[in-house]
Amino acid sequence: VTRPRRERREAATHCPYCALQCGMVVTGPDARDPDARGSDRADLGSEQVSAVREASVRPREFPTNRGGLCQKGWTSATLLNTPARLTTPLVRRHRDEPLRPASWAQALDLVAERLRGIQAAHGADAVAVFGGGGLTNEKAYLLGKFARVALGTAQIDYNGRFCMSSAAAAGTRAFGLDRGLPFPVTDLDTADAVLLAGANVAETMPPFTQHLRHAADAGGLIVVDPRRTPTAELAALHLRPAPGTDLALALGLLHVAVAEGYLAEDYLAERTTGFTSAWQVAANWWPERTERVTGVAAADQRRAVRLLAEAGSAYLLTGRGTEQHASGADTVSGWINLALALGLPGRVGSGFGCLTGQGNGQGGREHGQKADQLPGYRRIDDPAARAHVSSVWGVPAESLPGPGRSAVELLDALGQPNGPRALLVFGSNVLVSAPHAGRVADRLAALDLLVVADFVLSDTAATADVVLPVTQWAEEDGTLTNLEGRVLLRQRAITPPEGARSDLDVLHGLATRLGQPAERFPTDPETVFTELRRASAGGPADYSGVTYQRLRAGEALHWPVPEADHPGTPRMFLDRFAHADGRARFVAVDHRGPAERPDADYPLLATTGRVLQHYQSGAQTRLVPELVEAAPEAHVEVHPDTAARAGLVDGDLAVVASRRGQTEARVRCVASIRPDVVFLPFHFPAAQRANLLTNPALDPTSRMPEFKVCAVRLTPASAP
Ligand code: SF4
Repeated sequence: VTRPRRERREAATHCPYCALQCGMVVTGPDARDPDARGSDRADLGSEQVSAVREASVRPREFPTNRGGLCQKGWTSATLLNTPARLTTPLVRRHRDEPLRPASWAQALDLVAERLRGIQAAHGADAVAVFGGGGLTNEKAYLLGKFARVALGTAQIDYNGRFCMSSAAAAGTRAFGLDRGLPFPVTDLDTADAVLLAGANVAETMPPFTQHLRHAADAGGLIVVDPRRTPTAELAALHLRPAPGTDLALALGLLHVAVAEGYLAEDYLAERTTGFTSAWQVAANWWPERTERVTGVAAADQRRAVRLLAEAGSAYLLTGRGTEQHASGADTVSGWINLALALGLPGRVGSGFGCLTGQGNGQGGREHGQKADQLPGYRRIDDPAARAHVSSVWGVPAESLPGPGRSAVELLDALGQPNGPRALLVFGSNVLVSAPHAGRVADRLAALDLLVVADFVLSDTAATADVVLPVTQWAEEDGTLTNLEGRVLLRQRAITPPEGARSDLDVLHGLATRLGQPAERFPTDPETVFTELRRASAGGPADYSGVTYQRLRAGEALHWPVPEADHPGTPRMFLDRFAHADGRARFVAVDHRGPAERPDADYPLLATTGRVLQHYQSGAQTRLVPELVEAAPEAHVEVHPDTAARAGLVDGDLAVVASRRGQTEARVRCVASIRPDVVFLPFHFPAAQRANLLTNPALDPTSRMPEFKVCAVRLTPASAP
């Protein structure tokens, strides 16, 4: 290939994937070069166009990654030039027709006309919107505004509901406010003890493990996970509770903490309320009972508590493994109760936090794409919040809809009587990522209109009536908020290909066609962010003092940042918690077990998670050849004895079936997994979707579905 000469430009930015938001430098064609799109160049063949757009990444120093990247980050530039890239809208009039190219005007006109017709016939709530935790703050904000103002629908939620809604609910009720980590990641560097409940960071965010090194070297790293994960391999103590019994374990550890005299009594008296009622439950969870229910030996329970209580600096962190349950909020409350009993939260050198998963999992839930929230992390049913946000939006407060359905309930209502007839999806691949995926497919098929904005034909986009090709991470500016509440600027490093538009442009195009004034839906990210700052002002997640200028200058701004000269709030709750009385709340919670139990037909428990090479639904990472080569297909981890009983050996193709569906996966025999448990990664499409199995039973507090435990059986796949 002859490489046309182009100016190269470097942009300091962040990884497109997880919430660690590792710092990286992207080098690509100068975005100011009018020929940099490549695809406008009629004189170039397709390989030369690729050469024009060729980009590369390298890590840079940033506190979360300190010059490290995982395999996903190192290979992320491949996404910018993927041959699967969409550069023209696709449309079909009937589902049995193929998608055909259309102009942007044709596609947006069609969508607006169909939305108007559906709402005229069935009401405003007949149109629903589904967002994503990977969208920038600006997109999440404008999407929420678009739903409530341009569509007037209450029916908006997003895939962050699947991610850490239970931890957010538990954090809010304990501390009065939820910020994943209320302290910088680097505070962990000197911790003597860290308990990780349901987090496999060595695979999901490998550079994070450097922050655990001190605790690991000190013999104070404790991992709670039913599997012997690479993270558990680093730990001094690995507790392996049966899936769905984490809350029983947390109650048992609280019992031990009290029984062995580790209760932080002065801290309890000065900074908390509600211990007595929480203790009334935990008093019944003596170590031997906890061992019977969880499978964690009483001696290991005592050792875990001693490691935490006797450490000079100790932290307790949760992840999806302990949160994605029908009792998820209560389970996290159980862990928070333990942390409070030991006096950890709200002190320098110790604490409680939740490890956010998605790239903008934190910011994504603060700016209004969640069914029950308005920008600034405000409740949508709070009259003062409605008055403030509506004044920023220039609409009457009474015109704003109230809370809508949560993600699983929204997806389940699609195409059903009184449910939405149309769905707009931004930044999400629900056909792979939502629980009970077979039912989701049925519901999408029942819609009158499915519109998906994505940069490739994701599994969900492939079933849509209209697909809108959008820009991706390094092709546009935008802010994200990482797992420690730090607001980051992802900078444009490469010009998007001709034909792709920003999601902000899409929302502008649809809103104006629906009769909204053009200036109400800006397309410039910084202009949107300026409005977001005003909308968040005075709210719990106050971004008023954050500006692109300060972010470009490299300031470390952790929200809240209420003034232009405010330094940000890296550590929260040091003086008081966010409840009116300044005290944290113990919450009395008790173990109730998973929503679904094994029986003779489905004798095993399945749990799901991530592998090193893939991210979420795999819609991005399955486009990267190096990652696909390393992890090409779904596998199922099985104890060798369990496999043998099912007539399977390592490498066989198995069918895993639950009460909702079945999936195929390659058997991987692992002696360290519990014999009653199998594990499947959830990144793979079509017949390999782990979420064909999973249980959509919901946590009553947060509406989190129970991804992490369902009853299954294992059989050999039929011979090829
Ligand atoms: Fe990207 Fe997360 Fe890997 Fe860092 S750890 S390179 S943010 S996927």
